Amino acid sequence: KEALVRLSDYVYVLKENTIIGQRVPVYFYISDRLFEHLEEDAIRQAANAGTLPGVEKAIYVMPDVHVGYGFPVGGVMAVNTQTGIISPGSIGYDINCGVRLIATNLSEERILPIRQELMQEILNKVPAGVGSRGRLKLSKEQLKEVAIKGARWAVEYGFGFEEDLMHIESSGTLPDADPDKVSNFAYERGSEELGTVGSGNHFVEIQAVDEIYDENTAQKLGISIGQVMIMVHSGSRGFGHQVCVDYLKVAKDALDKYKIHIPDMQLACMPFRSEEGQNYFKAMNCAANYAFANRQILGFITADTLRRFLGISWEELGYRVVYDLAHNIGKVERYKIDGEEKELLVHRKGATRAFPPYNPDVPPAYRDVGQPVLIPGDIGRYSFLLVGAPKSMEISFGSACHGAGRLMSRTKAKEYARKEGIEKVLSGLVVVARGKGTIMEEIPQAYKDVTEVVKVVDALGIAKLVARLKPLGTLKG
Ligand code: 5GP
Ligand code: MN
Ligand code: MN
Repeated sequence: KEALVRLSDYVYVLKENTIIGQRVPVYFYISDRLFEHLEEDAIRQAANAGTLPGVEKAIYVMPDVHVGYGFPVGGVMAVNTQTGIISPGSIGYDINCGVRLIATNLSEERILPIRQELMQEILNKVPAGVGSRGRLKLSKEQLKEVAIKGARWAVEYGFGFEEDLMHIESSGTLPDADPDKVSNFAYERGSEELGTVGSGNHFVEIQAVDEIYDENTAQKLGISIGQVMIMVHSGSRGFGHQVCVDYLKVAKDALDKYKIHIPDMQLACMPFRSEEGQNYFKAMNCAANYAFANRQILGFITADTLRRFLGISWEELGYRVVYDLAHNIGKVERYKIDGEEKELLVHRKGATRAFPPYNPDVPPAYRDVGQPVLIPGDIGRYSFLLVGAPKSMEISFGSACHGAGRLMSRTKAKEYARKEGIEKVLSGLVVVARGKGTIMEEIPQAYKDVTEVVKVVDALGIAKLVARLKPLGTLKG
């Protein structure tokens, strides 16, 4: 921490060559309050990444940072696609873990009196929990189709509508997915988990818009005070996890072959242009497509459950996907560095895209407001809706934070919940889960203050605050 230099209210830097072989500086986008929570190990992990072959310009660390596997959660690393590497650990085990936000026409008053019963019904209808099984049991051939088509597969199967696809990052389908690069074990693990929430940090939440910061943008996004929303947070389940496990091994085995020296085995990586690197990239995109399909199904069945519970039509419900984004992924994008345009593989781990208005990758509906940036907070306080802003293209490879970020380990959170009494910690909240243990690990106090986190990205001009969402009820895994 002593090695960090405070440049301004929200920027600290760790200069290049602070550790041996570190070729780029590391910027920490963080307020003084959050700086107190910054772990030494997270700083070290970010510096380590700065030694990897082909890293360009700088490593960026978001205010929700915490220690991860090899590379910190909240980290952004861009690597030259010609000369650089691809690092599975810097994308994360849960490939395309991400968030979907769905708007409705309902108002908060309609849900408040029935929220306990509604969440019970959602618990009955939406599969959640460790290794939980979904409604689907898919053959390998079907899963290969999911891996190629992503969210489109789910829509064609009957989960959702064609318009949904226009409001998803990359339209919910990533090209460069080759299902033959995915192991049989991954297919086995994935066969019954499509359309399931997963455990722990993953959730389905009913929320209400409770504050608007930018009336004009909110209006363009169709967001108003008191409006009921559905937020889904899940990823690629056992399928993506297995892809990561498989290719971490490939990467470790390939280190000698390509003479790559790394300061931490968890950063095992392979040249992006190598056969191993391309195989991982193609398998990673399969897992990402699986995750897009997963959130498509989860969002749709949650909305359908809500609709049936109220006995209303889809029109009355006003189901509309606001956006769906990835926060654990590697993407090929182009950036200008020192006047030269370069093709980069941007690793975002616990970081979202935050593309500004008029970026061609922003869906037409949002072209002049910027890409929606979805930031979950915790089960008790708030979550936020922002839009990408121009500075992101200059100072964070088009990226922003992804959440509040963990403050306590799961063990610490459990201890805290036990000491304070879980009833007291959760008083006033409606939380349903398969296991009580999960809730103890996921209490609001286990996370940083998301309001402070989004303040940083807003102040830096990476993303702009649009609306605040408060939880009405949460389903946890
Ligand atoms: P991660 O992908 O890093 O596990 O989680 C993303 C973020 O989701 C966390 O940093 C945390 O801020 C947020 N989060 C975790 N659980 C919940 C929840 O139950 N409700 C809401 N609104 N946010 C949550
Ligand atoms: Mn996540
Ligand atoms: Mn996840």
